Amino acid sequence: MAKKKIQQCLVLIKPDGLIKSLTGNILTTLTETKLIIVGAKIVQVDRELAEKHYHKLKEEKGEEIYEETLKYIQGHYHTDRVLALVYQGENAIEKIRKVAGETNPEKAEPTTIRGRYGRIVSSTGVFENVVHASDSEENAEREIKLWFEPNELSTVIYPTKEKKVTKNEIDWGEN
Ligand code: ADP
Repeated sequence: MAKKKIQQCLVLIKPDGLIKSLTGNILTTLTETKLIIVGAKIVQVDRELAEKHYHKLKEEKGEEIYEETLKYIQGHYHTDRVLALVYQGENAIEKIRKVAGETNPEKAEPTTIRGRYGRIVSSTGVFENVVHASDSEENAEREIKLWFEPNELSTVIYPTKEKKVTKNEIDWGEN
């Protein structure tokens, strides 16, 4: 395992995970990592959020997989929500990716979350792999800032600059 480092990792329990009532099982598996949860919420994913989350998928995997994956994460095939979580702790990204398993559920170890619960949809070829997990510190930061507001996290992860608000800005609505 790499040198110890405190990291954050965004985890999404995708619409197939929620509709199949796998949330409890997935959270139980994630507790094996001994990481702590510093953020959690249910999100209804619209096209804009889906596009921002998968901003590189079109160039990496092609138009067809990209479009199907956007539909999948928006819940077109299951339910229109995901459970978004932020885990924190030593080497969080490696630990979570290990219990999540490989992207392709048929290649994932059978004891991992994706190996146990994922499937490949025969008509579209999309990997319905139940969870998303950030794959690098850079992506974790980008994704956590995309999915969460600072005040939705139980700890300050990415300090924000203090903004001085002028009296005019506060007195909106009054003449
Ligand atoms: P990961 O989710 O493991 O970080 P990627 O970022 O490469 O993997 O892909 C994002 C999502 O797009 C996957 O979780 C999966 O749902 C879908 N996907 C990626 N590659 C493929 C593929 N070759 N065939 C079908 N679906 C794919």
